[in-house]
Amino acid sequence: MIIVPVDEKEKDDLIERLNYEGRSYRTVNIYDKTVVFLDGKGMSTEHHIKHLYSREFRDRTVVNVAGVRIGESLTIAAGPCAVENEEQVMETASLVKRYGADMLRGGAYKPRTSPYSFQGLGKDGIRILERAKDEFNIPIVTEIMNPEYYEIMENVDMLQVGSRNAQNFDLLRFLGKKDKPVLLKNGMGNTIGEWLDASEYILNGGNGNIVMCYRGVRGIEESTRFTMNIGTVIAAKRKTHLPVCVDPSHASGKREYVESMALAAVAAGSDMIEVEVHNDPECALSDSEQQLYPDDFRKLAKKLRKLKTFIDGMDEKTNIQYQ
Ligand code: PEP
Ligand code: MN
Repeated sequence: MIIVPVDEKEKDDLIERLNYEGRSYRTVNIYDKTVVFLDGKGMSTEHHIKHLYSREFRDRTVVNVAGVRIGESLTIAAGPCAVENEEQVMETASLVKRYGADMLRGGAYKPRTSPYSFQGLGKDGIRILERAKDEFNIPIVTEIMNPEYYEIMENVDMLQVGSRNAQNFDLLRFLGKKDKPVLLKNGMGNTIGEWLDASEYILNGGNGNIVMCYRGVRGIEESTRFTMNIGTVIAAKRKTHLPVCVDPSHASGKREYVESMALAAVAAGSDMIEVEVHNDPECALSDSEQQLYPDDFRKLAKKLRKLKTFIDGMDEKTNIQYQ
């Protein structure tokens, strides 16, 4: 049972009572609150909730990634699928930054289906991302596959948990003990409940800096690489206070579809878009067919911002009408 005392006094009284009764419990500080996790049957008097991700706990969370406030206005992260070499990253970073990206993405440790596919540059890749971060003054997000890479990623601003590690509970627990922001993808075979439960592993360790990233699931449809259910985005926004991101690149697998899927995601309420962009997609070492040309990204970023402004404006009008 999760108990959220309303103030210091209620917390102190509760803990005194639990100690007196010899109950087993644990406390965690998250956001501006102390939360008490109680083993066994709970107390009826206090405010208890089922999940820290739920909107019973909080209305809305803004995740601050090196000054980029995700959940406040539309955030766009763009960059290559994989870090391949310095020139590729620098050129792509320079262009996505110029065209309006808030963050640079790029995988240095790549979870590839086949062990014979390009596995990423590892530590050298992280160093290249760091150089791009400094040169273009843009926060970086990259995938962590294993806690042992955490130290190498000290200067990375946001850690991505990929679809293949979405239920790697040791990794999730590990990230829960840190305060670095996490971009948590859904497992490709997971329900929304399982995806949200994955976030709970991080939250209940005390790390509240999580953005939920939907990248589609494995469905029966073959026209897209994965199946992006727009309803999942809408439901996620309702079920959690955490910001929601959509990755239209992996969801579609085809660069021709990325723009429409990204626009649909923003229309559905997504707070962030993470999109793959490569300076020379035809020659990319991974996900060549889904990475945007820089000029496609320029047009996409413009449209996304316009759409977001339009949607926010619509909300205001609705409010006025109903007042
Ligand atoms: C990625 O974003 O680099 C990636 C591998 O995506 P996913 O984990 O969603 O397949
Ligand atoms: Mn990719």
